[in-house]
Amino acid sequence: MARKMNKRDFLKISLAATGGMMSLNSFGIRPFLPGTKEKPWKWSKVAMYQTETPRGVRCLICPNECTLKEGEWSDCRNRVNIGGTLYTMAYGNPCAVHVDPVEKKPLNHFLPGSRAFSIATAGCNLACLNCQNWTISQKSPKETRNFDMMPDKVVENAKKYKCESIAYTYSEPVTFYEYTLDTSKLARQEGIRNILVSAGYIHEKPLRELCQVIDAANIDLKSFSDAIYMKLNAGKLQPVLDGLKIFHEEGVWLEITNLIVPEWTDDLDMIKRMCDWLYDNDLYNYPLHFSRFHPDYKLTQLPPTPLSTLEKAREIALKAGIKFVYIGNVPGGDYENTYCPKCHKLLIERKGYLITQNHIKDGKCEYCGEEIPGVWK
Ligand code: SF4
Repeated sequence: MARKMNKRDFLKISLAATGGMMSLNSFGIRPFLPGTKEKPWKWSKVAMYQTETPRGVRCLICPNECTLKEGEWSDCRNRVNIGGTLYTMAYGNPCAVHVDPVEKKPLNHFLPGSRAFSIATAGCNLACLNCQNWTISQKSPKETRNFDMMPDKVVENAKKYKCESIAYTYSEPVTFYEYTLDTSKLARQEGIRNILVSAGYIHEKPLRELCQVIDAANIDLKSFSDAIYMKLNAGKLQPVLDGLKIFHEEGVWLEITNLIVPEWTDDLDMIKRMCDWLYDNDLYNYPLHFSRFHPDYKLTQLPPTPLSTLEKAREIALKAGIKFVYIGNVPGGDYENTYCPKCHKLLIERKGYLITQNHIKDGKCEYCGEEIPGVWK
């Protein structure tokens, strides 16, 4: 079933994963072309959080609660009912593997300047019209070219490439839950941190279990409107808000990303309500990243987000009491720099994903001693 990868295959995989600092293909990891039959499939495992119902086996990982009859595949495209048991088909078969700067996640207050060994399998439980990774998120592992990398290999590679963390990212780690959980447990034992980059669309129980081994999360808060969530993302707002509170309660370092999509999520009153909610729920110490939209997938007719809209959103957030507000996907400027909220001096200067200055010492501003929230070592 496995075959050697040629140059064209490699380029396809690298592009699908949005580009990282380096691709592991060049280090000799052998990719596999999946078979067409569901069994035998080396990369399957009995799924967690499943229950039997009269209408089929139900997955309780995310609010979609897929209920599947024999042979049916899930909304996220990587779970299937085989013989009355739900299996994940995304276990040990990432379709994207890169070594990234942690700033790319984006995480600005978590081990700045470090590397994150980043993996994703095919599949997602949402269907965002603007998805930038749709070539892997809207596919099943049967349709992507995958690496053969069980949890122990992921950890081994993270160590080999001197990564301080492993990031579960690019597509949606909620849907490759078992792979994320098992890899995270092993990583913890080896002193490697774990990063979840997710839309946070997950039920409480599996999330609390995952939080026991996750050190940092960047969660997309896609808008502050249930109606928009339904139309733009095929999801719901409330589970994401509940999830943000759970990360906070469980002590996971959190950064929040809000992508501003013209005509969809650029209403400044809505952005103000979102920021007020973050403040009222004690989430004002966590960085908020406003991210610029670039036309992609089913929204190619829209323009990129005007810089003025992003700047206005940033002002609104700062006025609402959010302490660290960044603007992402905009080259140049000082939108990604960190300033001390007390003495306003420049603390971390970033040029792209590079750190050019860092004046945080032992978690404090080097100039005035103000404590800067984050994970610094
Ligand atoms: S994780 Fe996948 S299978 Fe489970 S409920 Fe969500 S979309 Fe359905």
